This record gives sequence, C-alpha cells and structure tokens, in this order.
Amino acid sequence: MSAQLIDTVAEVLELSGAAVERNGEYLEALVPESVSKVLHTPELARLYFNPEQSKQDGELVTFQSDFVDRLLALVQGTGNYAHLTLRDLYLKQSTKSAAEQRFQVLNGLGHALDAMERILSYAQFNFKYTAVSDEKKDGLVSVIVNEQTLAEVSDMAAQLDWVESVETARHADLPAQPFQAIYAVACRSTETMIRRELAEFHKSLNRRLQRDLDRLAEYYDSLAAEIRRKIARRGLEGKEREDEESRIRATALELERKITDQREKYAMKINVQPVNLMRLFMPVMVVNYEVRFRKAVREIPLVWNPLTKDFEAPACQGCACGIHHFYICEDKLHAVCADCFKCENCGRNVCRACHDKKCPKCGLEHSRNPQ
Ligand SMILES: [Zn+2]
Ligand SMILES: [Zn+2]
Ligand SMILES: [Zn+2]
Repeated sequence: MSAQLIDTVAEVLELSGAAVERNGEYLEALVPESVSKVLHTPELARLYFNPEQSKQDGELVTFQSDFVDRLLALVQGTGNYAHLTLRDLYLKQSTKSAAEQRFQVLNGLGHALDAMERILSYAQFNFKYTAVSDEKKDGLVSVIVNEQTLAEVSDMAAQLDWVESVETARHADLPAQPFQAIYAVACRSTETMIRRELAEFHKSLNRRLQRDLDRLAEYYDSLAAEIRRKIARRGLEGKEREDEESRIRATALELERKITDQREKYAMKINVQPVNLMRLFMPVMVVNYEVRFRKAVREIPLVWNPLTKDFEAPACQGCACGIHHFYICEDKLHAVCADCFKCENCGRNVCRACHDKKCPKCGLEHSRNPQ
C-alpha cells in the first residue's frame, strides 16, 4: 500500500512542478512556493511513508494523514479542462452541391457560394445528474456544441475514440460565439437528454405511484362502505347517524392527505452539475451559403462534419433547434424554424429572433419562450 502511496505522491508533486528525489522509503522534494503553501510543507520537504523510519526532519504520510487531504486539495480543479486537435480526417470534396441539396430556404432563395477547409472548435461538456425520488438514479450526459455556429453535434462523440488527436492548442479559423451562448445551448440539450434517459425511470415511478394510489382508494372506500353498512344495519338516526357520517367525511379527508403524501414521495428532483469541458479543434468543410430575401443578402456558414459525415444542422436563431429547412426573416435575415416564424396567437408571420416577448402584429405575449 505504502509503495503505491509513495508513487502517487511523487507523481502528483512532479506534475505540480516539484523536483522529486526518491530515497528508498522517503521522498525529498523541492516544491514551488505556491504548492508548499497548499501542502503546508517547507520548500524543501522530506516525506516519510514508513512509520518505523519516520524522523523529526520530515512528515509522515499515510492514507489517514492530513497530508493526503491537502494533496487532494492541490489536484482538485485539474482535469476540468482539456483540449485536443483532431487529425487526419477525410473531408468531403463536393460539399457545395451537397449543401444545396441538403438545405432549403422556404421563403426566399439560398445558394452555395463556395466551400473551403477550416479549423473549427467544439466544446464537449460533461454533466452528471442525480434524480431523486423514492429511488435514486444517477448518470452522465455529454453534449457537444460547435462554438462558431452553436449547432449541437453530440452525435460526433461516438466517433471520437477512433480519431487520432494531439494535445496542442489550435486556433479556430472563425470567431467563436460568447461562452455564455455556447453554455446555454449545452444546458438546453442536456435537459432534453436527461429527460430522455430518465423516461423509463419516470414511467416506473408513475406506475408505482398509480399502484399505491389504487390501493389507498380501495382501502378507504372499503372503510366508508363498512360505515355505511353499519348505518343501514342498525338503522341509525339522529346523533348516532351524524357521528358515523362525520367518520365517513374524516375517512375521505384522510385519503386526500395520503394521496398528497404519496405524490410527494414519488415526485422527482433532478440535480445537474457540470463536470468538465473538453475543447476539440477539428478540420471541417465550411460552405458559405447565401440567403436572399427581396434585396437583402446574408451568408450562413454550413458545416460539413467529418466525424458524422454529414452537415451539421444550424441552430434556429429563435429556439436553437437544429434546422435544415428554414425561413428567413425580412428585417434581419435571421434563419428560423417554422415555429419561430409564426405568431401562435394570430398566425401571422413574425420572427421570434426579432420579437421574443410579444407579437408586433397582434400585440399578444408569446406563451412559449424561445429557448
Ligand atoms: Zn425555432
Ligand atoms: Zn400575433
Ligand atoms: Zn428576425
């Protein structure tokens, strides 16, 4: 055990920038000032691992010692972020014509201008969740977002294991969106994924809730029936009858209380926490797609992804869902999905990216917030 501990401590110290020398059963380490502060050691530290050989000039380290807690404090936070550059990926050549087949502007004109190889960056967020009800269930979900276009491309994760990568930083050829916007897309997709993963768990909770509610109703119905039979059998009248009838009412109230308790017992609370972030730099084909509405023109980058071997669905500028067929708004040429191009109250064409709160045509507030 102590041999493993000595190796781990030596490795962590080295990774933290210390010069470590191993002398049989103890370590001698020249520790950077910032690290020695966290570890509460002198800058030239001697660490013993065998209690029998431990001396006053150093500190004894065991699995139970405070030193291990301090070492954990030192490594906490590392491993939260990494970046990789993916290499040697095949890029499709005839992406320009493929883009024209794959995408369509429903109320205007769109055509591919040119296609070129670009390096783009992707943020892969890992989240862990815990769903708590009468049972507990936890899991991990992973979401990948294109940092330039905000398209959600979590599908490409399945291919990542097969790809060659290096740990050098690269710069993307196009400017990234603000981190807040990228994170917002990741959170929204995570919610959808967790809901999908918990669908069975949720169904089973509902089944058990229903079974318990049926049993309760049956039990309390039989109690009330019993009392009614008693009233009939004894031919109760006046005060005696009133007392029994109030017992029936009390039974009904008790049942309601029990139902509320059961519903609370099976209610599901989900806690979601970000674990870490990996940034991936990857060569892709970017097709500049020109959209035209009357005289106004705008270019939208369409990305052909070598891992999914398909175009990424750009994010609707109203609700961020992926779109291949879209509408163009006449004011700002936003690309939006059918739901975000129409007011749900008056049915007229309204761009939800321009008007997220209320419809400028009928004045009514939107009930569905574009996410
Ligand atoms: Zn939309
Ligand atoms: Zn309206
Ligand atoms: Zn708009």
